[in-house]
Amino acid sequence: MHLSAVNHRIPLSDGNSIPIIGLGTYSAPISTPKGSCATSVKIAIDTGYRHIDGAYIYQNEHEVGEAIREKIAQGKVQREDIFYCGKPGDDVYPKDENGKWLYHKSNLCATWEALEACKDAGLVKSLGVSNFNHRQLELILNKPGLKYKPVSNQVECHPYFTQPKLLKFCQKHDIVIVAYSPLGTCRDPSWVNVSVQPLLKDPFLKALGKKYNKTVAQIVLRFNIQRGVVVIPKSFNPERIKENFQIFDFSFTEEEMKDIEALNKNIRYVELLMYYSNPQTLGISNCDKPLSLLIYESQVCGLE
Ligand code: NAP
Repeated sequence: MHLSAVNHRIPLSDGNSIPIIGLGTYSAPISTPKGSCATSVKIAIDTGYRHIDGAYIYQNEHEVGEAIREKIAQGKVQREDIFYCGKPGDDVYPKDENGKWLYHKSNLCATWEALEACKDAGLVKSLGVSNFNHRQLELILNKPGLKYKPVSNQVECHPYFTQPKLLKFCQKHDIVIVAYSPLGTCRDPSWVNVSVQPLLKDPFLKALGKKYNKTVAQIVLRFNIQRGVVVIPKSFNPERIKENFQIFDFSFTEEEMKDIEALNKNIRYVELLMYYSNPQTLGISNCDKPLSLLIYESQVCGLE
């Protein structure tokens, strides 16, 4: 499939489509100046991004909405051009008196049915999941009376964590993988495994960047989109927002794709160790992260 800056949507199994690059918007709320998310989303839209990834718990979802509404009012885009991914849930997990995380007693299949009802009510266009392993996906896919299949699974994915098995499983079931932390995320030790070397300093990727006159960030993003994986790099820096979008004017040979795949260390940067004791997570499978469900094109940030 030929991907370009103007035309880079790929099909979803429900008949909709998703732009293969989106802007991630998580940034530590304490250290992020108010308004920087809105400014970044506006720059991203002007640059050509048509997909924004957000969540209420990022505490800046209202800024995403503000920015998109402003760009629509300016006539720069129409609502239907923008693919917004939100994550339902209006609270981060509370802690008990001993500081242990408390989790909702939720039933995954019942929750999925509630999301199906949201789609039927016209509140969302597509339904996806996040941080699901193949067993959790099977739980939904094999649910009696399943009305809508998940169209996507948002998971960590980059050259050091290429997700070969999950990618194969998802391809078989027509589920698009959306790669979060596609650049190897930031170096915040409160939720990132900083013992793994920074992805963007990898010598092989640097050399490849030299060959194509591209930065390592552009190299790792191109790698994923060239194998059909959607990327949602986060940047609140105007130059880097633009840099991350310049990935449609070059491509790797099959051999180079294999060489990049061979960098896989099977180690994740995003560990979120505080969620390890989630009974739901451990009860269902060996997933080591909380489950979340994704809703697309939602009204979460006041978009209609
Ligand atoms: P990421 O996109 O891999 O990396 C973001 C970091 O890279 C930021 O520190 C950013 O700093 C820097 N950066 C951006 N472009 C760069 C470039 N060209 N060169 C060098 N550094 C660059 O990591 P992420 O934020 O963890 O993941 C992306 C998005 O995925 C999140 O924002 C969020 O929307 C989503 N996410 C979802 C989940 C989930 O559980 N579903 C988990 C994690 C993340 P600057 O801003 O200063 O450029």
